[in-house]
Amino acid sequence: MTGSAKPPLVHAARAHQLALDYGTPIHIYDEKSIRERARALNAAFAWNHGFREYFAVKATPNPAILSILAQEGCGCDCATATELMLADACGITGDALMLSSNDTPAEDYWLARDLGAIINFDADDMLGFWEEHVGAFPERVCCRVNPGGDFQVANAIIGTPEDSKFGMTVDQLKTSFAYLRNRGVREFGIHAFLASNTLGNDYYPQLAHRLFELVRDLTAELGVRITFVDLSGGVGVAYEPGQEEPDIAQIGEGVRRAYEEVLVPAGIELDIYAELGRWLLGPAGALLTRVIHHKVTYHDYLGVDACAANFMRPAIYDAYHHVTSLDHEGEPLEGCYSVVGGLCENNDQFARDRALPKTDTGDLLLIHDTGAHGHSMGYNYNGKLRSAEVLLCEDGTDRLIRRAERVDDYLATLDVTPEGRALLADTKRKR
Ligand SMILES: *Cc1c(COP(=O)(O)O)cnc(C)c1O
Repeated sequence: MTGSAKPPLVHAARAHQLALDYGTPIHIYDEKSIRERARALNAAFAWNHGFREYFAVKATPNPAILSILAQEGCGCDCATATELMLADACGITGDALMLSSNDTPAEDYWLARDLGAIINFDADDMLGFWEEHVGAFPERVCCRVNPGGDFQVANAIIGTPEDSKFGMTVDQLKTSFAYLRNRGVREFGIHAFLASNTLGNDYYPQLAHRLFELVRDLTAELGVRITFVDLSGGVGVAYEPGQEEPDIAQIGEGVRRAYEEVLVPAGIELDIYAELGRWLLGPAGALLTRVIHHKVTYHDYLGVDACAANFMRPAIYDAYHHVTSLDHEGEPLEGCYSVVGGLCENNDQFARDRALPKTDTGDLLLIHDTGAHGHSMGYNYNGKLRSAEVLLCEDGTDRLIRRAERVDDYLATLDVTPEGRALLADTKRKR
């Protein structure tokens, strides 16, 4: 295997220019691939006239990214008031907003109501909560179902809904729909998210099949008008070099077949919604970081200037993320390195004993597929600051879309005296 088994978003020359202009570490995003992925998704579901992708804002909550997606026809799936505000600030509002929240505080519902977002209720008890704190229901409402058990595709368990905190049982869904119908709701949606980061092309089609059957049965049983099915997130990314990318065209075709099989004979027409985050943005982003130390003990460590505070998936999920040693791309993999950050936590390792070309202090590394659930999961442990985000624009230029955090940002919520603050800033400047 060579270092180019997964092509990097940028090569050495461009990476060094970016490092010079913006410093390291930085999260970079490629506008062209974001647009291409959004277009491929829309094309895959073009057979369904009402299809809409509601991008899961939590994956990459940056206005520049949300605006690109909005231009490609995507709405936003939000879980909190803050995410709703971000989307609203980008002009994404009304039925282009979905609130797929859980354990929701009243304030979040107030904002969602004011913005005209579609409300996706996670639990039957939220209906009474809404009436108590918000008032009458909108005319169109969605409920999130969790059928329990395992979710199997070709005899393999790919998800365990039964152990997931999300959604309501099928019985609760029925009672909720009847309750909502009796209170004036006229249009219904069903949402489910039963497996995460799925590879292969069967997850959406099988989920759709199950949900379409549910739609057919509930329509007959309750006489409600179900106008959309929200397949939510869960389509995966081929993080590892040998893995095959899900084929979105085939996935769309599989959902179409389920639609033809179940809904067409029942005379039901509805819109398909998706809330993909990972699939849409994951491969369109990468984390650029520089090797600042090289240490050999029982393992060979490349210490980089990024850490789990910039990107936590390897630390918390033990997730594989491909690494390219940009200054040595294409050279034989003669090194075996653990790529680590500076947190006082041993899980702060982006790669363990990874075969890479010989690499040393000063070299640039690219950590792949960090475009979704990357910067957004960042945190401030050890007082580490979150990095900048840079957009590689379609016209060949690049643009800062989020500045790096400064010590002042970290201190903003603390009761530090002006003198203390000045002292800290001063200490930081002295070298
Ligand atoms: C996280 C999330 C998504 C996006 O999931 P991906 O795995 O990134 O596609 C979509 N919908 C909801 C409700 C979520 O919580």
